[in-house]
Amino acid sequence: MTDYDTLFIGGELTPAASAARIDVIAAGTEEIIGRAPEADTTDVDAAVAAARRSLQDPGGWMRWTPEDRSQAIERLADELETRAPRITSLVAQQNGMPISTANVIESVLPATIYRYYASLLRRTPFEETRPGLLGGQTIVRQVPVGVVAAIVPWNYPNLITATKLAPALAAGCTVVIKPSPEALLDSYIVAEAVSSAGIPPGVVNIVPGGADTGAYLVSHPDVGKVSFTGSTAVGREIARTCGELLRPTTLELGGKSAAILLDDADLPASLEGLFQATLLNNGQTCVANSRILVPRKRYDEVIDFFAAMLSGAKVGDPLDPETQVGPLVSDAQRSRVEGFIAGAKNGARLITGGGRPEQFDRGWFVEPTLFADVDPMSILGQQEVFGPVLALMPYDTVDDAISIANSTDYGLAGTIWTSRPKLGEDIARKVDSGTVGVNYYMLDPVAPFGGVKASGLGRELGPEGLASCLQPQTIYLAP
Ligand code: NAD
Repeated sequence: MTDYDTLFIGGELTPAASAARIDVIAAGTEEIIGRAPEADTTDVDAAVAAARRSLQDPGGWMRWTPEDRSQAIERLADELETRAPRITSLVAQQNGMPISTANVIESVLPATIYRYYASLLRRTPFEETRPGLLGGQTIVRQVPVGVVAAIVPWNYPNLITATKLAPALAAGCTVVIKPSPEALLDSYIVAEAVSSAGIPPGVVNIVPGGADTGAYLVSHPDVGKVSFTGSTAVGREIARTCGELLRPTTLELGGKSAAILLDDADLPASLEGLFQATLLNNGQTCVANSRILVPRKRYDEVIDFFAAMLSGAKVGDPLDPETQVGPLVSDAQRSRVEGFIAGAKNGARLITGGGRPEQFDRGWFVEPTLFADVDPMSILGQQEVFGPVLALMPYDTVDDAISIANSTDYGLAGTIWTSRPKLGEDIARKVDSGTVGVNYYMLDPVAPFGGVKASGLGRELGPEGLASCLQPQTIYLAP
C-alpha cells in the first residue's frame, strides 16, 4: 500500500498542510490500496499561488515559445507512456475498469491527445494583424486564460486529465488538477511524469480531495478558468459560482445516450462495437449508450442478441486481461445502480442479470443487466445509471426513434447502427447531442467533444479545446 503524506505543488512532492487523509479502496477486493492527503484550503492556496507564479514570471510558461511548449508536451506523452502499466493497473484497481480497456483508453488515448496538442500548437497562429476597415491596423492576440482549475471524476482519471491538461499546457496556461477521492493514486504517477518531462515547477499542481476541496478551488480568486467533468448536479453548482464570478468554464456532464438500431443493422458484425458503445468501463461511462432503440419487427431477435451478449460477458477481476465487465467503483455506486434495477423491475421486463454475480464474495460487482419494454419516460428511460444496465425500447418508425432518442434532458452522445452508412449519417444529423457515431463510437482527439442541454457547456478536444483555454486581446493601431 502506498501512503502519501505529500501533494505535488510547485514541482515537488510537498508535505500537505491538511491532516485529513483519503483511503483509496480497490473496487474488486474492497481492500485499502493507498492513502493520500485530502487537500485543504491552505494546500489549494499554495497550489494556485505556484500556478500563478509559474504562469506570469519572466520566463514563465505563458512566455515560452509555442515550439518549446510543444516539445515539453511531447516529452510528457513519452514519460506517461513509459509509466502506462503502473497507471492502468492503478486505474483498474481503483474504479474497476477492465485492464484491457484501461490499456487503450487510459494509456494510448491520453498519449495521443498530448501529441495531438503538441502538433496543433505548432500549426496555431497566436497572433495576427488585420487591416482595419477605418484606416488603422488591428493586432489580435490569443492570450492564455490563466490558471486552469481542472476537476476530474473517477471514471476515466487519466483520459479526462489529458483532455484538460493538454490543451491548457498548449495554450500557455498553468494548471491545478483536483483528482476525485475514489481515483487519485494514478495522479502521483502523472506528477512524476510531469517532473521527468522537464515541465517547470508550478506549471502543473495536483490537489486531491472531495467536494469541499473542489468548491474552494473553483471559487479561488486567482483561477482563470474552470474545466469540470462530472455529474450534472455538481456542474450546475459550478456554473452558478462561475456565473457570479464571470469566470469561463467548460462543463462535461452526464448523459443518457441512445443507440438507434435500424432494420438493416448487422448485429453479429457490430458485436464488438455495440459492446464498447453500451458497456465500456462497466457502464461507468458518460457517453454510454444505455438506451437501445429497436425496430419493432426485429425486437425479439435483438432481445436475444443482447441477452446473449450480456450473459456471456466475462465478469471478473479488473486486472485479468480476459475480463470484460469489472466491479463498480464503490459500495455507494453499487447501491445506486441496484436502486435503479429495483425500480425498473416494476414496469419493465427483466431479461437477464439484475443481481450480484454469485461467484464473488468481495468486490462491488453487479451482473450485466438487460431490461426490455422500458417506457422511454420512466426513470430507467430518462436517468443516468452509470452501471452495466441496458434498457431496450421498441419503435415503429425512424422518426419515432429519433424523437425517443431526443426525449431526455441530456444530449451527450448516441449511435446509429445500419448497413447504409449514408442513411446513418442523415439520421445522426437529427440527433440532439454533442457527438454521434455511425456503426461505432470513439472520441477523436481532432474533434470537439461535449454535450448539449443537461450534458454540459463548451467543448474539449480539437482546436475548440485549445480555443477554450485562450482569450483574444485586440490592439488597435492608429493609422
Ligand atoms: P461528481 O460530480 O460527483 O464529481 C466529479 C468531480 O467533482 C470529483 O472530482 C468531485 O470530487 C468533484 N466535486 C464534487 N462536488 C464538487 C463541488 N461542489 N465543487 C467542485 N468540485 C466538486 O461526479 P462523479 O460521480 O465523480 O462522476 C460521475 C459523473 O461524471 C457522471 O454523471 C458522468 O456522466 C459524468 N462524466 C461526464 C463526462 C463527460 O465528459 N461529459 C465524462 C466522465 C464522467
